[in-house]
Amino acid sequence: MNHTRIHLSIPHMSGKEQKYIKEAFETNWIAPLGPNVEMFEKGIASYVGVEDAVAVSSGTAAIHLALELLNVKRGDKVFCSTLTFVASANPILYQGAEPVFIDSESDTWNMSPIALERALENAVKEGVLPKAIIVVHLYGQSAKMEEIMAICNKYKIPIIEDSAESLGSLYKGKPSGTLGEFGIYSFNGNKIITTSGGGMIVSNNKDALKKARFLATQARDSAPHYQHSSMGYNYRLSNILAGVGRGQLEVLDKRISARRKIFNIYKEELSGLPGVSFMKELENTFSNRWLTTFTIDPEFTPLTSQDLIKSLDNENIEARPVWKPLHLQPLFQQCNYFPHNDKESISDKLFNAGVCLPSSSNLDYESQKRVIQCIKNKFKLRK
Ligand SMILES: *Cc1c(COP(=O)(O)O)cnc(C)c1O
Repeated sequence: MNHTRIHLSIPHMSGKEQKYIKEAFETNWIAPLGPNVEMFEKGIASYVGVEDAVAVSSGTAAIHLALELLNVKRGDKVFCSTLTFVASANPILYQGAEPVFIDSESDTWNMSPIALERALENAVKEGVLPKAIIVVHLYGQSAKMEEIMAICNKYKIPIIEDSAESLGSLYKGKPSGTLGEFGIYSFNGNKIITTSGGGMIVSNNKDALKKARFLATQARDSAPHYQHSSMGYNYRLSNILAGVGRGQLEVLDKRISARRKIFNIYKEELSGLPGVSFMKELENTFSNRWLTTFTIDPEFTPLTSQDLIKSLDNENIEARPVWKPLHLQPLFQQCNYFPHNDKESISDKLFNAGVCLPSSSNLDYESQKRVIQCIKNKFKLRK
């Protein structure tokens, strides 16, 4: 193969990270916590407009802390979007709680308010309401939060927004991750900005986040000796990695524009192909377009998403199926699942028909043209 590999989503450094890392080295602040952590937290809190933010070692850790803060315990139920990465639901298992999966709806690919309502009606019948609901905003697209929040308010269930993929996205003018009780972000290497590994939990509930800081640093009581009254975790972000985060945050808006531009070029070039429809942008929302995704409707072409992904791979281009729904995962075989309606599971359809395309903010135009040409060729061959 004579082309270098084009990846799905890779880190894109700004060059400003080095300054903050250097500062950490010069002051020998090579530890968790420290000035970079504090400034990174303040930066994120002010960017999304919340009272407070706590930097942690991963997005997964942030979800785990959110569940702990909502007092999710062994035997409790937690509702979660099914069409997502496994990290959305693993922390439910850490707590010994039971995930219940909720299907997508086709406008946003995110949690179906209809399935959610049915699941809650069922929970009422069974006499056990969930302790929390984890709503994922997939690939930068906001879920239908107004509808979901209205339902959750009715039953008084707190929402955790898994905004790992949607930092910088807006829902009716409000930043993704700031509408629920807690929001979480991820700075894993593939996300829109990265600290190589890291996460953040945000909220307007300052007391709760104070407790998050406490739990994330081994739950150490204030005493001159090491004293502990509750179980804690070692989840804080290192001061060096937070330096990377500060340098990344300065260019977040640029990264969003770049990813949106990539989306627009793909859409312009490919939306005329038979059966191809791109993920929409829900009215009154703004997506960071973390990944460009589309579906191929089998009614219009014999070409399947699997065929396309395979042939792109042969050309050294990394495309991926959309997340395999969690209710289909062997790990969650025993868990309850509520499809959008009795006749169809939207997430199953999206999984079968969906394709994620290379969307890195540093994907150059020539490389993107190569991806586009490969896709066009493949469709031509199968018409
Ligand atoms: C990446 C991701 C996470 C987990 O974040 P980490 O920082 O990798 O732990 C959680 N949920 C979703 C939807 C993600 O895409």
